Amino acid sequence: MIYDGNGGEPYKADIGIRTDTIAFIGDLAGVSARISIDARGMAVAPGFIDTHSHYGGDLFNHRDFLAAVSQGITTVISGQDGSSSFPLTKFYKELADTPVAVNIASYSGHNTLRDSILGKDFKRFATASEIEKMKALLRQDMDAGALGLSTGLEYDPGIYSNKEEVSELAKEVTAYQGRYISHIRSEDRYFWDAINEIITIGKEAKIPVQVSHIKLAMHNLWGKADSLLALLDKARKEGIEISSDIYPYSFWHSTIRVLFPKRNFTDEKEAEMILHEITLPDDIILSAYEIQPEYEGKTLAAIAKLENKTPARMLVELIARIEEWEKKNNRGCDEGIMATSMNETDIKKLMQWPHANICSDGSSSGTHPRGYGAFTRVLGKYVRNEKTMPLSEAIHKMTGLSAKQMGMKKRGLIQSGYFADIVILNSETVEDKATVAEPHKISEGIEHVFVNGTLVFENKKTTGKYPGIIIKRQ
Ligand SMILES: [Zn+2]
Repeated sequence: MIYDGNGGEPYKADIGIRTDTIAFIGDLAGVSARISIDARGMAVAPGFIDTHSHYGGDLFNHRDFLAAVSQGITTVISGQDGSSSFPLTKFYKELADTPVAVNIASYSGHNTLRDSILGKDFKRFATASEIEKMKALLRQDMDAGALGLSTGLEYDPGIYSNKEEVSELAKEVTAYQGRYISHIRSEDRYFWDAINEIITIGKEAKIPVQVSHIKLAMHNLWGKADSLLALLDKARKEGIEISSDIYPYSFWHSTIRVLFPKRNFTDEKEAEMILHEITLPDDIILSAYEIQPEYEGKTLAAIAKLENKTPARMLVELIARIEEWEKKNNRGCDEGIMATSMNETDIKKLMQWPHANICSDGSSSGTHPRGYGAFTRVLGKYVRNEKTMPLSEAIHKMTGLSAKQMGMKKRGLIQSGYFADIVILNSETVEDKATVAEPHKISEGIEHVFVNGTLVFENKKTTGKYPGIIIKRQ
């Protein structure tokens, strides 16, 4: 059954692939091929496009992209949250010399540009001349084929920018028909301001804008999915092409310091508010803590108990230890948390929004299960078990819609003349298996994955082939 990526009813047919292209769809009875796969009883879909992904971070150590292809992903969009490989020309040259299993596209990251120009003196607005310098670097990346500008406005150094700086840079990609994708300035306390900021940037720069991993990550935001979607729909009606991506989990993974947008790490009152309103001490797991690795995998509540401190005091101290360690060692400390902050009703409503595509936000060696299970979790938990949406619609949100929102041609659909990025999956068994305890466990039900006509995954194993190409802005 072919789910062509448009979201309509599936239909039965054979597919013929010639080199890297879907050459024929119809009846191929009696025709022979070098390789043929009997996909009776299976769903055949375009390869999934991961529009917000971190697999690109250490891609040369994971050239087979097992984490991605085992959940059906065939194209990965890199350079997210304001952080990209710089310059992209160099990255693309390396990638051309050492190709990987999946297709790669990238944004140019604001934090990366800002870091190149402002360096260590970043805790302030950029000057007009610094913005001009960032623009010049951005143009280099756009010339290299970047899809557009990405920001990570909850992270250093981007958090110190103002809207004008970001808007100025976003306008720089308009002439290239580029786009803007953003980990917005706040997913909790200042959420509505952050949504207004991305809408304004879309309006001022006149480019498509996408909210990365959309979420309502604070208890007093729960239940506000309808208001949020009404706001986004209103912006769309006014001509702003705003969309979002979303991953299917109620807990996020980030730095521990992201909890303090004012960077007031010693403020115990703030810590108390965080542990009351944003995530509970039992719901924060330390995923990385280089200073005391014995704490990795433990909750904040458990660590506080070990040290006989209140959770708020413990949170403040964990960060103080990081700050001190970084000063002494003169480099960033490996630290991270997973924290539950979202609720299921909101997740489902946001996922059902017609302009939301599915992303993983995952990485190959990460501790969040999304790295191995995001797409299969949508297909198993949300589509089959909870009937959040029909399979055809979920596939559309992983393929045709994503390609459109990334401005990609000839991908995201099963259509003659399109690139043969194809997933064969069993809709009865497809399911994520990765958990917090076992984040790298491979999904069930993804049977065969083709990238540009070459088989990269079958029998739950990668094939050692690297047919992925670089997808430049089209
Ligand atoms: Zn992010």
